[in-house]
Amino acid sequence: MTLDHVDTLECTLCGETYDPEQVVYTCPNHDGVAGILEVQYDYDVIVDRFDAELDGNIESQWKYRDFLPVDTDATPVTLDEGGTPLVDAPRLGDELGVDVRVKNDGVNPTGCFKDRATSVAVTKARYAGRDVVTCASTGNAAASLAGYAARGGLDCRIFVPAAAPEGKLVQPRVYGADVLAVEGSYDEAYDLSLEVTQEYGWYNRNAAINPFQIEGKRTVGHELAEQTRGEIPDWVVFSMGDGCTIAGCWKGLREFAELDFVDDTPKMLGVQPEGASAIHDAFHEHDDVDTVADTLADAVAVGRPRNTLKACRALEESGGTALTVSDEEILDAETLLGRTEGIYAEPAGAAPVAGIRKARERGIIEADESVVTVVTGSGLKDTAGAKRAVGPVTDITPSLDDVAAHYGTPAGEAGQDPRGGR
Ligand SMILES: *Cc1c(COP(=O)(O)O)cnc(C)c1O
Ligand SMILES: [Zn+2]
Repeated sequence: MTLDHVDTLECTLCGETYDPEQVVYTCPNHDGVAGILEVQYDYDVIVDRFDAELDGNIESQWKYRDFLPVDTDATPVTLDEGGTPLVDAPRLGDELGVDVRVKNDGVNPTGCFKDRATSVAVTKARYAGRDVVTCASTGNAAASLAGYAARGGLDCRIFVPAAAPEGKLVQPRVYGADVLAVEGSYDEAYDLSLEVTQEYGWYNRNAAINPFQIEGKRTVGHELAEQTRGEIPDWVVFSMGDGCTIAGCWKGLREFAELDFVDDTPKMLGVQPEGASAIHDAFHEHDDVDTVADTLADAVAVGRPRNTLKACRALEESGGTALTVSDEEILDAETLLGRTEGIYAEPAGAAPVAGIRKARERGIIEADESVVTVVTGSGLKDTAGAKRAVGPVTDITPSLDDVAAHYGTPAGEAGQDPRGGR
C-alpha cells in the first residue's frame, strides 16, 4: 500500500486525527455521524509527483490522480468521468445581466456530477477487496454507484426514497444493482443505510460520512481552476443538498490557489430550494429547524443535510453566501438554460441559474462580475418536472394543412419537392 500522500483523517469537530489506512467513517467522539472527517494531505509529496501540464486539456478527472486519496498502485474504476466542458453562455448572460459560463457536469457517464466521487469510492472499495457497495441516495448517487459497481465488478445495493423520479429508479437496475425503494424520505433512507453498513459491513459511499467521497468532488474545482486560469471567475454557483459538492469543489479551488497554480479563488454561492433550505438557514443563523424537505428539485430534497459544517465553511472562507429560490423559479431557470444555450439540466442542476438571477436582483452579484454556474445533473433522468414548465406538445395529423394551420401557407419557393433532389 502506498498512501504516503495522505497524512491523516482529521475530525472537523474536535480535531482528533485518524490513520487513513483504517476504515473509519466518522469520529466516534460524537453522537451519531456528526464527527465528519477531513482528509489532510502531504502536499510536498503530491507536488513532487504531479507533473501534468495545466493547459486546459483534461481527458478525465484522473489527470489529478496525485491529488486523490487512492493508493498509487490502485487501478482506477473509471468511465472517464470529469474533463467536462466549460462553455460560454452569451444568451443566458444577456438574460441574467452578467457574464456567465456553464460548467456542464451533466455530461458525466451516468449523467451526474456524482460520478467524480463514485469513481474514487469504488476504486478504493475494490482495492480494499470489498465486494459489496451501498449508499442512500435521492437518486443520482445511487445510479452513479450502480454504474461504477458494474464497471468494477462489485455488487451494489442501494436505498432510494420510493418517490424518486422513475428514471433514477430504472437506471441503477439497468446497471444490475439491487434497488431498495424505501417508503419514506431521503433522510430515513439515509439512516437505514447507516444501520445496514454497521450490521452487514458493506462499503458505504455516502459522501458526508465516507471521508474519501468528497475528495473526488474536488476535481471539479481543479478543472475550473485550470479552465479559467488567468481569468478566475468572481463567483462559482452550486445547488446544495447535503453540502458535499460545494465543499468539495471549494477544497479543490483553494488547493490550486494555495499551491500557486492559479492566483485567486472565486466566491462560492450556494443555492437551495425554499423547501429544503437547512444549509442556507444555518449559514444565515436562522433557527428554524424544518426538517421535512418539500421541493421538486429531488436531488437536493434534503431535510437534514449531513455536511452543513463543510458547506458553511466553503461559503465563509470563499467570501460567498447562500440564498434560496422557489420551485417556480427553478423550473423557469431550467427552461431558460435550455432555450438560451441548449443545455438540459435537471431541476437541481438549474437551480443555480435561478440563484444567479436572484443574486443579481439583490446586488450580491454585480453586473461587471463574472460567474460560472455548475450544471450538476442532466435533465433526461427526470422529465416529469420539466413537463410542468414546457406545457403540452402540439398535436397534428400527418398533413401539410395541419402545419399550415399553425404557420400559415408557405411563401416564396413554394412547390419544390424536398424529396426530388437533383
Ligand atoms: C447530489 C446533487 C446535488 C447536491 O450535492 P450535495 O453534495 O448533496 O450538496 C446537486 N445537484 C445534483 C444534480 C445532485 O445529484
Ligand atoms: Zn471528533
